[in-house]
Amino acid sequence: MLNLAAHERITYRITIDASKCNGCNNCTTACPVNASYDSEEDIDPENDDRVIAIKNGVAVVINPFRCDGDGVCMIVCPMDCITIEFIPLDEYEDVPLQKSKKK
Ligand code: SF4
Ligand code: SF4
Repeated sequence: MLNLAAHERITYRITIDASKCNGCNNCTTACPVNASYDSEEDIDPENDDRVIAIKNGVAVVINPFRCDGDGVCMIVCPMDCITIEFIPLDEYEDVPLQKSKKK
């Protein structure tokens, strides 16, 4: 097994520009990590481990570490407001969880 130092490991950082998001839900329904949830009723509010979700009418990142970086959400977004960066794991700090309101 490849034994990489922390700075050599790559992860992903997904960000969503809430000011452009129209809340269409395309990204949340297309995300394969979210797919284990059939509906909002399946979600335990205390343990919501979706990557992205709609809160107060816009998409927000909830659990960025679950994102596998496949980019499906970017493809289906009609507003071009999702960005995925490939970054070293040891630089992955202070993940900017988004405000749940439009600015
Ligand atoms: S990149 Fe893939 S896993 Fe990450 S939020 Fe988008 S669809 Fe989900
Ligand atoms: S697909 Fe784009 S516009 Fe639609 S909810 Fe997701 S981020 Fe917002």
